[in-house]
Amino acid sequence: MAACETERAVRGGRIVLGDGIVESDIILRGGSIAGFEPWGKPLGSTDIDACGLFVMAGMIDPHVHMRDPGHTEKDDFVRGTAAAAIGGVTTVFDMPNTVPAVSTAAILAAKAEHLQPRALIDFALYGGAGASNLDVIVEQAEAGAVAFKSFMNAPAPSAGTDGLTRCLPDDHVFLAAMKRIAQTGRIGVLHAENDILCKGLAADLRAEGRKDAMAHGESRPNFAEEEAVSRAILLAREAGARISFAHVSTASALDRIRHAKHQGWSVTAEACPHHLLLTDEMLRSVGPYGKINPPLRCEHDRAAVWAALSDGTIDFIGTDHAPYAVSEKEPGWSEIWQAPSGAHGIESALTVLITEVVRGRLTLPQLTRLVSGNVARLFGLAPKKGALIEGADADFVLIDLDRRGKVDRNAMQSKSRDAARLWDGRDTLGAVVATYVRGKEVARDGVVTAKPGHGRFLRPGRTPA
Ligand SMILES: [Zn+2]
Repeated sequence: MAACETERAVRGGRIVLGDGIVESDIILRGGSIAGFEPWGKPLGSTDIDACGLFVMAGMIDPHVHMRDPGHTEKDDFVRGTAAAAIGGVTTVFDMPNTVPAVSTAAILAAKAEHLQPRALIDFALYGGAGASNLDVIVEQAEAGAVAFKSFMNAPAPSAGTDGLTRCLPDDHVFLAAMKRIAQTGRIGVLHAENDILCKGLAADLRAEGRKDAMAHGESRPNFAEEEAVSRAILLAREAGARISFAHVSTASALDRIRHAKHQGWSVTAEACPHHLLLTDEMLRSVGPYGKINPPLRCEHDRAAVWAALSDGTIDFIGTDHAPYAVSEKEPGWSEIWQAPSGAHGIESALTVLITEVVRGRLTLPQLTRLVSGNVARLFGLAPKKGALIEGADADFVLIDLDRRGKVDRNAMQSKSRDAARLWDGRDTLGAVVATYVRGKEVARDGVVTAKPGHGRFLRPGRTPA
Protein backbone atom coordinates (compact mmCIF):
# COMPACT_ATOMS: atom_id res chain seq x y z
CA MET A 1 0.00 0.00 0.00
CA ALA A 2 1.31 3.43 -0.95
CA ALA A 3 0.43 4.95 2.42
CA CYS A 4 2.47 2.31 4.22
CA GLU A 5 5.51 2.84 2.02
CA THR A 6 5.82 6.44 3.18
CA GLU A 7 5.17 5.58 6.79
CA ARG A 8 8.04 5.76 9.28
CA ALA A 9 8.36 6.11 12.98
CA VAL A 10 10.29 7.94 15.64
CA ARG A 11 11.18 5.07 17.95
CA GLY A 12 12.14 4.89 21.59
CA GLY A 13 11.86 8.56 22.48
CA ARG A 14 10.13 10.26 25.39
CA ILE A 15 7.47 12.53 23.93
CA VAL A 16 7.13 15.97 25.47
CA LEU A 17 3.54 17.18 25.53
CA GLY A 18 2.19 20.38 27.00
CA ASP A 19 0.87 18.53 30.03
CA GLY A 20 3.39 15.78 30.55
CA ILE A 21 5.87 13.32 29.09
CA VAL A 22 4.88 9.96 27.60
CA GLU A 23 6.95 6.99 26.49
CA SER A 24 5.74 6.32 22.96
CA ASP A 25 6.74 5.94 19.32
CA ILE A 26 5.41 8.47 16.81
CA ILE A 27 4.14 7.31 13.42
CA LEU A 28 4.90 9.77 10.60
CA ARG A 29 3.14 9.84 7.26
CA GLY A 30 3.72 12.39 4.49
CA GLY A 31 5.20 14.98 6.80
CA SER A 32 2.44 14.70 9.38
CA ILE A 33 1.97 12.86 12.63
CA ALA A 34 -0.25 9.88 11.84
CA GLY A 35 -0.47 8.44 15.34
CA PHE A 36 1.31 6.90 18.28
CA GLU A 37 2.15 3.36 19.34
CA PRO A 38 3.73 1.79 22.39
CA TRP A 39 7.48 1.30 22.62
CA GLY A 40 8.79 -2.08 21.60
CA LYS A 41 8.73 -2.37 17.82
CA PRO A 42 12.17 -2.84 16.25
CA LEU A 43 13.82 0.10 14.51
CA GLY A 44 13.14 -0.02 10.75
CA SER A 45 15.67 1.16 8.19
CA THR A 46 13.87 4.46 7.57
CA ASP A 47 12.88 5.01 11.19
CA ILE A 48 14.34 7.71 13.41
CA ASP A 49 16.17 6.45 16.48
CA ALA A 50 15.21 8.54 19.51
CA CYS A 51 16.39 6.11 22.18
CA GLY A 52 17.55 7.97 25.26
CA LEU A 53 16.29 11.26 23.81
CA PHE A 54 13.31 13.53 24.32
CA VAL A 55 11.10 14.41 21.35
CA MET A 56 9.60 17.89 21.59
CA ALA A 57 7.71 20.13 19.17
CA GLY A 58 10.17 22.44 17.38
CA MET A 59 10.49 25.99 18.62
CA ILE A 60 8.28 28.55 16.90
CA ASP A 61 10.17 31.81 17.19
CA PRO A 62 7.67 34.64 16.82
CA HIS A 63 10.27 37.40 16.74
CA VAL A 64 13.17 37.43 14.27
CA HIS A 65 14.80 40.01 12.03
CA MET A 66 16.45 37.98 9.27
CA ARG A 67 17.49 41.07 7.20
CA ASP A 68 16.35 39.55 3.91
CA PRO A 69 15.52 41.26 1.57
CA GLY A 70 17.47 44.44 2.07
CA HIS A 71 20.43 43.98 4.38
CA THR A 72 21.82 40.65 3.30
CA GLU A 73 25.33 41.86 4.11
CA LYS A 74 24.37 41.33 7.79
CA ASP A 75 22.55 38.05 7.21
CA ASP A 76 20.15 36.38 4.81
CA PHE A 77 17.29 33.93 4.96
CA VAL A 78 19.39 30.93 3.88
CA ARG A 79 21.87 31.45 6.71
CA GLY A 80 19.25 32.69 9.14
CA THR A 81 16.97 29.69 8.74
CA ALA A 82 20.01 27.38 8.82
CA ALA A 83 20.93 28.91 12.18
CA ALA A 84 17.33 28.45 13.31
CA ALA A 85 17.27 24.79 12.23
CA ILE A 86 20.51 24.01 14.06
CA GLY A 87 19.10 25.74 17.12
CA GLY A 88 15.91 23.62 17.11
CA VAL A 89 13.58 26.19 15.57
CA THR A 90 11.10 24.85 13.00
CA THR A 91 9.11 28.04 12.27
CA VAL A 92 10.05 31.71 12.41
CA PHE A 93 7.91 34.83 12.18
CA ASP A 94 9.94 37.48 10.39
CA MET A 95 9.49 41.13 11.34
CA PRO A 96 8.46 43.71 8.73
CA ASN A 97 11.53 45.96 8.84
CA THR A 98 13.17 44.44 5.79
CA VAL A 99 13.71 46.51 2.61
CA PRO A 100 11.25 47.39 1.28
CA ALA A 101 9.38 47.40 4.57
CA VAL A 102 6.35 45.15 4.63
CA SER A 103 3.55 47.68 4.50
CA THR A 104 1.11 46.49 1.82
CA ALA A 105 -0.37 43.17 0.72
CA ALA A 106 1.73 43.25 -2.47
CA ILE A 107 5.01 43.74 -0.61
CA LEU A 108 4.09 40.97 1.83
CA ALA A 109 3.31 38.58 -1.03
CA ALA A 110 6.54 39.49 -2.84
CA LYS A 111 8.56 38.93 0.34
CA ALA A 112 6.97 35.50 0.85
CA GLU A 113 7.84 34.58 -2.73
CA HIS A 114 11.40 35.85 -2.34
CA LEU A 115 12.01 33.95 0.90
CA GLN A 116 10.36 30.64 0.06
CA PRO A 117 13.23 29.19 -2.07
CA ARG A 118 15.70 30.38 0.59
CA ALA A 119 13.84 28.94 3.58
CA LEU A 120 15.08 25.77 5.25
CA ILE A 121 12.27 25.89 7.82
CA ASP A 122 8.70 27.19 7.75
CA PHE A 123 8.03 30.87 8.15
CA ALA A 124 5.28 33.42 8.62
CA LEU A 125 5.48 37.15 8.03
CA TYR A 126 4.46 40.19 10.03
CA GLY A 127 2.62 43.04 8.43
CA GLY A 128 3.48 46.58 9.37
CA ALA A 129 0.91 48.76 11.11
CA GLY A 130 2.02 52.39 11.16
CA ALA A 131 0.76 55.90 10.75
CA SER A 132 1.18 55.96 6.96
CA ASN A 133 -0.55 52.69 6.11
CA LEU A 134 -3.66 52.44 8.27
CA ASP A 135 -5.78 51.83 5.19
CA VAL A 136 -3.90 48.70 4.14
CA ILE A 137 -3.81 46.86 7.46
CA VAL A 138 -6.80 44.68 6.59
CA GLU A 139 -5.43 43.77 3.13
CA GLN A 140 -2.14 42.66 4.68
CA ALA A 141 -4.07 40.29 6.94
CA GLU A 142 -5.89 38.92 3.91
CA ALA A 143 -2.51 38.38 2.20
CA GLY A 144 -1.45 36.20 5.13
CA ALA A 145 0.17 38.50 7.71
CA VAL A 146 0.50 36.43 10.88
CA ALA A 147 0.30 39.55 13.09
CA PHE A 148 1.21 43.22 12.98
CA LYS A 149 4.24 44.94 14.43
CA SER A 150 4.10 48.50 15.65
CA PHE A 151 6.56 50.69 17.49
CA MET A 152 5.10 53.25 19.88
CA ASN A 153 7.50 55.91 18.69
CA ALA A 154 8.46 58.20 15.83
CA PRO A 155 10.65 56.51 13.22
CA ALA A 156 14.41 56.98 13.33
CA PRO A 157 15.53 59.43 10.64
CA SER A 158 17.60 56.61 9.09
CA ALA A 159 14.40 54.62 8.40
CA GLY A 160 13.16 57.26 5.94
CA THR A 161 9.51 57.21 4.95
CA ASP A 162 9.46 53.42 5.44
CA GLY A 163 9.63 53.99 9.19
CA LEU A 164 6.11 55.34 9.36
CA THR A 165 4.73 52.05 8.08
CA ARG A 166 5.46 50.47 11.47
CA CYS A 167 5.61 53.46 13.81
CA LEU A 168 2.66 54.94 15.71
CA PRO A 169 4.10 58.17 17.08
CA ASP A 170 1.04 59.48 18.94
CA ASP A 171 -1.92 58.14 20.88
CA HIS A 172 -4.52 59.15 18.33
CA VAL A 173 -2.90 57.25 15.47
CA PHE A 174 -2.19 54.36 17.83
CA LEU A 175 -5.90 54.10 18.62
CA ALA A 176 -6.77 54.24 14.90
CA ALA A 177 -4.30 51.46 14.11
CA MET A 178 -5.61 49.28 16.92
CA LYS A 179 -9.15 49.66 15.57
CA ARG A 180 -8.00 48.43 12.15
CA ILE A 181 -6.07 45.55 13.70
CA ALA A 182 -9.17 44.61 15.70
CA GLN A 183 -11.03 44.15 12.39
CA THR A 184 -8.48 41.54 11.29
CA GLY A 185 -8.61 39.39 14.45
CA ARG A 186 -4.80 39.25 14.35
CA ILE A 187 -2.53 40.36 17.15
CA GLY A 188 -0.92 43.79 17.31
CA VAL A 189 2.60 43.12 18.60
CA LEU A 190 4.02 46.19 20.28
CA HIS A 191 7.42 47.58 21.03
CA ALA A 192 6.42 49.57 24.11
CA GLU A 193 8.81 52.19 25.45
CA ASN A 194 7.92 55.87 25.89
CA ASP A 195 9.88 57.36 23.05
CA ILE A 196 9.77 61.02 24.06
CA LEU A 197 11.15 60.13 27.48
CA CYS A 198 13.87 57.87 26.06
CA LYS A 199 15.01 60.37 23.46
CA GLY A 200 14.98 63.23 25.98
CA LEU A 201 16.91 61.28 28.59
CA ALA A 202 19.46 60.19 26.00
CA ALA A 203 19.98 63.83 25.03
CA ASP A 204 20.45 64.75 28.71
CA LEU A 205 23.05 62.01 29.18
CA ARG A 206 24.92 63.01 26.04
CA ALA A 207 24.97 66.62 27.24
CA GLU A 208 26.61 65.35 30.45
CA GLY A 209 29.28 63.68 28.34
CA ARG A 210 28.15 60.13 29.02
CA LYS A 211 29.30 57.65 26.35
CA ASP A 212 29.54 54.39 28.32
CA ALA A 213 27.44 51.29 27.71
CA MET A 214 25.41 51.76 30.93
CA ALA A 215 24.21 55.15 29.70
CA HIS A 216 22.09 53.43 27.06
CA GLY A 217 20.14 51.60 29.76
CA GLU A 218 19.79 54.77 31.83
CA SER A 219 18.24 56.51 28.83
CA ARG A 220 15.55 53.83 28.67
CA PRO A 221 14.44 53.49 32.31
CA ASN A 222 11.93 51.00 33.66
CA PHE A 223 9.17 53.58 33.93
CA ALA A 224 9.45 54.31 30.17
CA GLU A 225 8.41 50.72 29.50
CA GLU A 226 5.79 50.69 32.24
CA GLU A 227 4.21 53.92 30.96
CA ALA A 228 4.01 52.75 27.35
CA VAL A 229 2.65 49.34 28.37
CA SER A 230 -0.12 50.84 30.50
CA ARG A 231 -1.07 53.39 27.82
CA ALA A 232 -1.18 50.68 25.15
CA ILE A 233 -3.36 48.44 27.33
CA LEU A 234 -5.83 51.26 27.82
CA LEU A 235 -6.02 52.27 24.15
CA ALA A 236 -6.12 48.71 22.79
CA ARG A 237 -8.92 47.92 25.22
CA GLU A 238 -10.89 50.87 23.85
CA ALA A 239 -10.23 49.66 20.30
CA GLY A 240 -11.08 46.04 21.09
CA ALA A 241 -7.75 44.86 19.69
CA ARG A 242 -5.75 41.83 20.71
CA ILE A 243 -2.27 43.01 21.65
CA SER A 244 0.96 41.35 22.70
CA PHE A 245 3.97 43.05 24.21
CA ALA A 246 7.29 42.10 22.64
CA HIS A 247 10.36 41.59 24.84
CA VAL A 248 8.93 42.70 28.21
CA SER A 249 11.87 43.51 30.46
CA THR A 250 10.74 45.11 33.72
CA ALA A 251 8.96 44.06 36.92
CA SER A 252 6.70 47.11 36.79
CA ALA A 253 5.53 46.57 33.19
CA LEU A 254 4.83 42.94 34.04
CA ASP A 255 2.64 44.07 36.95
CA ARG A 256 0.56 46.15 34.51
CA ILE A 257 0.24 43.19 32.14
CA ARG A 258 -0.66 40.84 34.99
CA HIS A 259 -3.40 43.24 36.08
CA ALA A 260 -4.78 43.54 32.51
CA LYS A 261 -4.90 39.76 32.21
CA HIS A 262 -6.77 39.49 35.50
CA GLN A 263 -9.34 41.90 34.06
CA GLY A 264 -9.78 39.53 31.12
CA TRP A 265 -8.44 41.95 28.53
CA SER A 266 -6.83 40.51 25.41
CA VAL A 267 -3.22 41.08 26.37
CA THR A 268 -0.33 38.65 26.03
CA ALA A 269 3.39 39.01 26.51
CA GLU A 270 6.70 37.74 25.19
CA ALA A 271 9.96 37.36 27.08
CA CYS A 272 13.36 37.05 25.44
CA PRO A 273 16.10 34.71 26.68
CA HIS A 274 18.41 37.69 27.28
CA HIS A 275 15.96 39.35 29.68
CA LEU A 276 15.30 35.99 31.37
CA LEU A 277 18.92 35.02 31.86
CA LEU A 278 21.25 38.04 31.52
CA THR A 279 21.60 41.37 33.33
CA ASP A 280 23.31 44.70 32.62
CA GLU A 281 26.40 43.33 34.40
CA MET A 282 27.08 41.70 31.05
CA LEU A 283 27.75 45.10 29.47
CA ARG A 284 31.11 45.27 31.26
CA SER A 285 32.41 42.48 29.06
CA VAL A 286 30.42 42.84 25.83
CA GLY A 287 29.86 46.61 25.73
CA PRO A 288 28.00 47.62 22.55
CA TYR A 289 27.34 43.97 21.64
CA GLY A 290 24.92 43.95 24.56
CA LYS A 291 23.12 47.09 23.42
CA ILE A 292 19.50 46.02 22.94
CA ASN A 293 16.07 47.67 23.21
CA PRO A 294 14.67 47.40 25.81
CA PRO A 295 18.07 47.20 27.51
CA LEU A 296 19.41 44.45 29.72
CA ARG A 297 18.11 45.23 33.21
CA CYS A 298 19.17 44.63 36.81
CA GLU A 299 18.87 41.35 38.71
CA HIS A 300 15.55 42.40 40.29
CA ASP A 301 13.95 42.75 36.84
CA ARG A 302 15.55 39.59 35.51
CA ALA A 303 14.09 37.64 38.42
CA ALA A 304 10.69 39.27 37.83
CA VAL A 305 10.66 38.23 34.16
CA TRP A 306 11.49 34.71 35.24
CA ALA A 307 8.72 34.73 37.88
CA ALA A 308 6.27 35.95 35.22
CA LEU A 309 7.04 32.81 33.19
CA SER A 310 5.90 30.68 36.10
CA ASP A 311 2.66 32.54 36.86
CA GLY A 312 1.49 32.78 33.23
CA THR A 313 1.98 36.54 32.81
CA ILE A 314 4.49 35.70 30.08
CA ASP A 315 2.80 33.62 27.38
CA PHE A 316 5.73 32.76 25.15
CA ILE A 317 9.43 33.19 24.46
CA GLY A 318 10.81 34.84 21.32
CA THR A 319 14.42 35.63 20.56
CA ASP A 320 14.30 39.11 18.96
CA HIS A 321 17.19 37.75 16.89
CA ALA A 322 18.64 40.86 15.23
CA PRO A 323 22.06 40.39 13.64
CA TYR A 324 24.40 43.35 13.21
CA ALA A 325 27.93 43.37 11.84
CA VAL A 326 31.02 43.90 13.99
CA SER A 327 31.75 47.07 11.98
CA GLU A 328 28.42 48.51 13.13
CA LYS A 329 28.82 47.53 16.79
CA GLU A 330 32.53 48.38 17.34
CA PRO A 331 32.15 52.21 17.35
CA GLY A 332 29.96 51.74 20.43
CA TRP A 333 33.02 50.99 22.59
CA SER A 334 34.12 54.62 22.46
CA GLU A 335 30.61 56.03 22.30
CA ILE A 336 27.65 53.76 23.01
CA TRP A 337 25.28 56.02 21.07
CA GLN A 338 27.09 55.07 17.83
CA ALA A 339 26.15 51.37 17.96
CA PRO A 340 22.80 50.03 16.73
CA SER A 341 20.54 48.11 19.15
CA GLY A 342 20.06 44.37 18.65
CA ALA A 343 21.80 41.04 19.07
CA HIS A 344 21.99 37.48 17.74
CA GLY A 345 20.04 34.82 19.58
CA ILE A 346 18.28 32.24 17.47
CA GLU A 347 21.00 29.61 17.28
CA SER A 348 21.51 29.33 21.03
CA ALA A 349 18.05 30.17 22.45
CA LEU A 350 16.54 26.71 22.82
CA THR A 351 19.81 25.25 24.13
CA VAL A 352 20.19 27.89 26.84
CA LEU A 353 16.57 27.26 27.85
CA ILE A 354 17.09 23.49 27.90
CA THR A 355 20.03 24.21 30.20
CA GLU A 356 17.55 25.73 32.66
CA VAL A 357 15.49 22.54 32.41
CA VAL A 358 18.55 20.47 33.36
CA ARG A 359 19.15 22.89 36.24
CA GLY A 360 15.61 22.21 37.44
CA ARG A 361 14.24 25.73 36.95
CA LEU A 362 11.80 24.76 34.18
CA THR A 363 10.15 21.52 33.03
CA LEU A 364 10.09 20.29 29.44
CA PRO A 365 6.25 20.47 29.27
CA GLN A 366 6.48 24.08 30.48
CA LEU A 367 9.19 24.79 27.92
CA THR A 368 7.23 23.36 25.00
CA ARG A 369 4.23 25.50 25.88
CA LEU A 370 6.41 28.62 26.07
CA VAL A 371 8.43 28.10 22.89
CA SER A 372 5.86 26.39 20.74
CA GLY A 373 2.32 25.53 21.88
CA ASN A 374 1.24 28.95 23.09
CA VAL A 375 2.66 30.71 20.03
CA ALA A 376 0.85 28.40 17.63
CA ARG A 377 -2.43 28.77 19.49
CA LEU A 378 -2.35 32.56 19.92
CA PHE A 379 -1.19 33.35 16.37
CA GLY A 380 -3.53 30.93 14.62
CA LEU A 381 -1.13 28.15 13.56
CA ALA A 382 -2.62 25.44 15.78
CA PRO A 383 -3.46 22.59 15.49
CA LYS A 384 -1.02 22.05 12.56
CA LYS A 385 1.85 23.58 14.53
CA GLY A 386 2.90 23.76 18.13
CA ALA A 387 2.17 20.30 19.50
CA LEU A 388 2.94 16.64 18.87
CA ILE A 389 -0.59 15.46 18.21
CA GLU A 390 -2.22 13.33 15.53
CA GLY A 391 -2.75 15.33 12.35
CA ALA A 392 -0.14 17.99 13.19
CA ASP A 393 2.89 18.70 11.04
CA ALA A 394 5.82 16.54 12.12
CA ASP A 395 7.92 19.50 13.33
CA PHE A 396 10.06 18.29 16.19
CA VAL A 397 13.46 18.26 17.80
CA LEU A 398 15.40 15.47 19.44
CA ILE A 399 16.88 16.60 22.75
CA ASP A 400 19.69 15.00 24.70
CA LEU A 401 19.63 16.22 28.30
CA ASP A 402 23.02 14.67 29.07
CA ARG A 403 25.08 16.37 26.40
CA ARG A 404 27.24 19.24 27.59
CA GLY A 405 28.66 22.04 25.51
CA LYS A 406 29.46 25.69 25.13
CA VAL A 407 27.95 28.34 22.87
CA ASP A 408 30.59 29.09 20.23
CA ARG A 409 30.04 32.01 17.91
CA ASN A 410 32.68 30.74 15.50
CA ALA A 411 30.52 27.70 14.79
CA MET A 412 27.41 29.75 14.02
CA GLN A 413 25.72 30.16 10.64
CA SER A 414 25.12 33.91 10.71
CA LYS A 415 27.09 36.05 8.27
CA SER A 416 27.84 38.41 11.14
CA ARG A 417 28.45 35.71 13.76
CA ASP A 418 31.52 37.58 14.99
CA ALA A 419 29.13 40.02 16.61
CA ALA A 420 27.22 37.24 18.42
CA ARG A 421 28.78 37.96 21.82
CA LEU A 422 25.80 37.79 24.17
CA TRP A 423 25.84 34.02 24.65
CA ASP A 424 29.32 33.21 23.35
CA GLY A 425 31.24 30.95 25.70
CA ARG A 426 28.23 30.14 27.89
CA ASP A 427 28.19 26.58 29.26
CA THR A 428 25.19 24.56 28.15
CA LEU A 429 23.62 21.46 29.67
CA GLY A 430 21.54 19.43 27.26
CA ALA A 431 21.48 19.91 23.52
CA VAL A 432 19.36 19.86 20.39
CA VAL A 433 20.54 16.75 18.57
CA ALA A 434 18.40 17.04 15.43
CA THR A 435 15.58 19.12 13.97
CA TYR A 436 12.76 17.91 11.69
CA VAL A 437 10.38 20.05 9.66
CA ARG A 438 7.31 18.25 8.30
CA GLY A 439 9.05 14.92 8.84
CA LYS A 440 12.29 15.85 7.09
CA GLU A 441 15.56 16.17 8.97
CA VAL A 442 16.92 19.69 8.40
CA ALA A 443 19.80 19.74 10.91
CA ARG A 444 21.77 17.27 13.04
CA ASP A 445 24.64 17.82 15.47
CA GLY A 446 25.13 21.42 14.45
CA VAL A 447 25.16 20.68 10.72
CA VAL A 448 22.49 21.52 8.16
CA THR A 449 21.24 18.33 6.48
CA ALA A 450 18.64 19.62 3.98
CA LYS A 451 18.52 22.19 1.21
CA PRO A 452 17.01 25.67 1.27
CA GLY A 453 13.52 25.67 -0.22
CA HIS A 454 12.13 23.02 2.11
CA GLY A 455 10.49 25.76 4.19
CA ARG A 456 6.97 26.92 3.45
CA PHE A 457 5.17 30.21 3.87
CA LEU A 458 2.49 29.80 6.54
CA ARG A 459 -0.78 31.68 6.60
CA PRO A 460 -2.57 31.69 9.92
CA GLY A 461 -6.01 30.19 10.26
CA ARG A 462 -8.72 31.36 12.58
CA THR A 463 -7.30 32.78 15.78
CA PRO A 464 -8.84 32.49 19.23
CA ALA A 465 -10.86 35.49 20.38
ZN1 LIG B 1 12.61 42.97 17.38
